[in-house]
Amino acid sequence: MADDTDDDAVELEARLAAQDTFEPPESFVEQANVADDGIYDEFAEDWPDCWEDAAALVDWDEPYDTVLDDSNPPFFEWFTGGSLNASYNCLDRHVENGAKNRAAIQWEGELGEERTYTYQDLYREVNAFAAGLRDLGVEADDVVTLYMPMIPELPIAMLACARIGAPHSVVFAGFSANALATRMNAADSEYLVTCDGYYRRGDALNHKGKADEGLRGVDHDVETVVVDRLGDELTHFLGDHAHDYGELVDRHEGTHVEPVSRDAEDMLFLMYTSGTTGEPKGVKHTTGGYLSYAAWTTQNVLDVKPEDTYWCAADIGWITGHSYIVYGPLALGTTTVMYEGTPDYPERDRLWELVEKYRVDQLYTAPTAIRSFMKWGTEYPNRHDLSSLRLLGTVGEPINPRAWKWYYKHIGNEDCPVVDTWWQTETGGMMITTLPGVGDMKPGSAGPPLPGIGAEVVDVAGDPVDEGNAGYLTVNKPWPGMLRTLYKNDERFIDEYWREYSDVDSDDPDDWTYFPEDGAKIDDDGYITVLGRVDDVINVSGHRLGTMEIESAIVGVEGVAEAAVVGADHDVKGEAVHAYVITEDDATPGDALRERIIQGVEDAIGPIARPESVVFTPELPKTRSGKIMRRLLVDVANGDDLGDTSTLRNPDVVEDIQAAVDAGD
Ligand code: ATP
Ligand code: MG
Repeated sequence: MADDTDDDAVELEARLAAQDTFEPPESFVEQANVADDGIYDEFAEDWPDCWEDAAALVDWDEPYDTVLDDSNPPFFEWFTGGSLNASYNCLDRHVENGAKNRAAIQWEGELGEERTYTYQDLYREVNAFAAGLRDLGVEADDVVTLYMPMIPELPIAMLACARIGAPHSVVFAGFSANALATRMNAADSEYLVTCDGYYRRGDALNHKGKADEGLRGVDHDVETVVVDRLGDELTHFLGDHAHDYGELVDRHEGTHVEPVSRDAEDMLFLMYTSGTTGEPKGVKHTTGGYLSYAAWTTQNVLDVKPEDTYWCAADIGWITGHSYIVYGPLALGTTTVMYEGTPDYPERDRLWELVEKYRVDQLYTAPTAIRSFMKWGTEYPNRHDLSSLRLLGTVGEPINPRAWKWYYKHIGNEDCPVVDTWWQTETGGMMITTLPGVGDMKPGSAGPPLPGIGAEVVDVAGDPVDEGNAGYLTVNKPWPGMLRTLYKNDERFIDEYWREYSDVDSDDPDDWTYFPEDGAKIDDDGYITVLGRVDDVINVSGHRLGTMEIESAIVGVEGVAEAAVVGADHDVKGEAVHAYVITEDDATPGDALRERIIQGVEDAIGPIARPESVVFTPELPKTRSGKIMRRLLVDVANGDDLGDTSTLRNPDVVEDIQAAVDAGD
């Protein structure tokens, strides 16, 4: 099999590099869930009632009487008066409507174990566990913390909570014991579901040990349920207040738990942000608006149909997994794939092996993963038949055009649209992206706001910027999937997201604008390019430089796979740019490449952005969603003590980088 030959690379470079607009493939458009661009006008004219299209995707116990209640901004409410149950919508109605034997979850363990849960299977286990949770005393509105890796019991526990009206708070399994404790304390959560351990690159990790350590930091009593994932591989002991998941489920085998009818505005779950920019925030999502919005975006952006096998290769411990592994796809009754392990175990073709094995129709992943695939080379995807793929998606950070084109060509074979979806934990679902059967794609730019979404790029005064200019991203209209508040902290909710661009003393909803804290540009077709966090700005001799722009220039240099830049104190300039660079596997880190990187930045932005140092490193500190934790690199560059590393996916890496800096690499 041919490696990434020079010819191949040259051809890709030449043909694709020159192209900046891509039309959706004809074959895709013909079958797309949305193929008519009239939807934009329709939604604009019929706002907010247009969102009844989303509400129509779920079954209501009681119909709602108001689409949007905007009488108390920014506490917007959607589909008020209605009631529903999320677990019923993800399970019972599919079982009742002839889909009971369709696979709901297709799970693959890291070591290659397979588990298929049909809708019927999932229904049975969710009911049994819901009954088990009630045995422990869980009632409606009690927050249940779920600290679990990518095993089927995680979505099962989520749906069991939803069934009895208990909001869940999922804590990413990679987070530290301390991160677990802070979140359980903040949410007054008296219940924890966890597991003994899981596999990571073939090693059995002791997760229970970490959970126990976390529990020692919790200031109240907790009932714990432990899933036995590893069997004999890892023995664990159930102490006081601990219960075996298997026993609870067996005890209630065959039980039907009546789904608790929840008010549309009742909390479905709580999710703490990862704290890339500051202290974690407890984002509150509700049942009616969130579920409708997750289902609508899954259907219309990811083009999911019930007969598809759809795979979002994210972690459920991140909002992306909540909306697009669990709630969106299951509400639509499709098959959702779940994979426990890492993409490079046992080999770097694991994802492509799974795409081929399960004949995956849509693949949704993050730019950080795509950049790793690029770094590893085309040999790995080339080993597999990826022809089942119909659509590709990305989320989590801006995708640089080179990575976009690589994904489009080497994974999508140039016949899958790529949706670059901008959204946040707080937005509940996608906000800015092309509709894959409608809009042309422009690599690097997420696209226009979705129909009905009032995203705008404005200047400091709140006025729209001219095309091509950079400004601040804002959202001037509420939407069903929006967060309702920060848990028990309405004041911080207003301060974090609204104060900047709203008249906070006004009762007029039009005076309220949501501020996601991202910088962006808009072009003359209304396409928005998200530039990154507004606070990720480096001030060199009074010039404000966006980290994202400099990183994009560095990643455009051949041989560079990934880059992070930060500003560190500088006596003369105020701040100086420092770059941390991961090279592609076949590139040599060293002075020659360093020179090309510095030149690349000077050419793209100017000498003012010239990096003071370029450090080569095998890894960068990342959050659960693959975002670089720049604040830690700032600490390294300044020679300061490292701040909180408890929410890093790879906590050891910071010290490695520190060592590389000290060694002068
Ligand atoms: P924090 O704790 O700092 O809020 P987080 O990990 O919770 O971090 P998320 O809600 O997962 O953050 O990420 C939202 C952010 O990710 C957006 O505000 C934006 O900066 C970035 N982002 C997500 N998708 C895209 C995209 N397609 N293009 C550009 N940026 C994106
Ligand atoms: Mg955020």
